[in-house]
Amino acid sequence: MKADYYEILGIAKGASDSEIKKAYRKMAIKYHPDKNPDNAEAEEKFKLAAEAYEVLSDADKKARYDQYGHQAFEGNGGFGGGGFGGGMNMDDIFSQFGDIFGGGGFGGGFGGGGQRRVKGSNLRIRVALTLEEIANGVEKKLKVKRKIKAPGTTYKTCSTCNGTGQVTRVTNTILGRMQTAAPCNACGGAGQSIDKKPKEADAQGLIVSEETVSVKIPAGVVDGMQLKVSGKGNEAPGNGISGDLLVAIQEKEHESLKREGDNLHYDLYVSLPDAVLGTSKEIDTVSGKVRIKIDTGVQSGKILRLRGKGIPSINGYGKGDLLVHVNVWTPKTLNKQQKQFFEEMRDDEHFEPKPESGDKSFFEKVKDMFS
Ligand SMILES: [Zn+2]
Repeated sequence: MKADYYEILGIAKGASDSEIKKAYRKMAIKYHPDKNPDNAEAEEKFKLAAEAYEVLSDADKKARYDQYGHQAFEGNGGFGGGGFGGGMNMDDIFSQFGDIFGGGGFGGGFGGGGQRRVKGSNLRIRVALTLEEIANGVEKKLKVKRKIKAPGTTYKTCSTCNGTGQVTRVTNTILGRMQTAAPCNACGGAGQSIDKKPKEADAQGLIVSEETVSVKIPAGVVDGMQLKVSGKGNEAPGNGISGDLLVAIQEKEHESLKREGDNLHYDLYVSLPDAVLGTSKEIDTVSGKVRIKIDTGVQSGKILRLRGKGIPSINGYGKGDLLVHVNVWTPKTLNKQQKQFFEEMRDDEHFEPKPESGDKSFFEKVKDMFS
């Protein structure tokens, strides 16, 4: 049984973003391996705190965790390369610190000295998906321009800071001598500088390379959602670790299906004779065309619910429905003969509206749809 992420950080469920950040910062400093050498228990606590923070600091993951607990991250194979749930490695943890401790240089780092790992910057890319791709999940090959270490580039320990990435300055103030640590300007805080690099490489020894990254997109993603592919962002100079590729999901509009959460809506128009006599109609679904039966005497506004023909839930719990809205099409022009027919039907009792309890009003139907 895994401990609760809120308990690990010593905070209450419903804690604010800044409380979560503060609690994690406290834990990270307390259990940092530099302060607890060869202490397996501290290392375990350090890792658990990082894992808890990874989830609770991310709005999407936090929402899933709040709803489903640890189950939310079990068996959702493929995407994002794990990183949490299965435990984090130290590189992942140190790479978080840029956000937490807000360090300088190109990646930030832990302020307590010790080994510092620079992380390459993240890359962002947008991918537009059809409703069919969203419903079934899809693997996309994305062309990404990312910075990689140029072949032939070598790094050496920075001579200005001796590899610590920091320089200490002593200043005289009215309160006495003050010692302050600042990121090393010579190496940007990385602790390493360029030894040799080819002409085409930039100041950090990197070049831009176009690569194809294959991304597995799970079924049920939502417009605006961001997926993370670990390590596919820009590489970092020296012994740093690569940034991440962040994939923003965009949903293309479907010509006949409208999405609302996991449910889909389809507007079906039937002629007056079809409504009176009954018929069958072919409609679009995300898994191809389907023929549905229209009962004799169907009323305009009737909603036919096709269970499970909607979008699968992103959490893997069930599928939405497809709601077919029946609209009876009233002819706008009639020839003489047709006009005469309807004139005769005006006083016919079969044409008198007689709503039964089964013929729900619009408002009752809307209520049902959201219940
Ligand atoms: Zn330096």
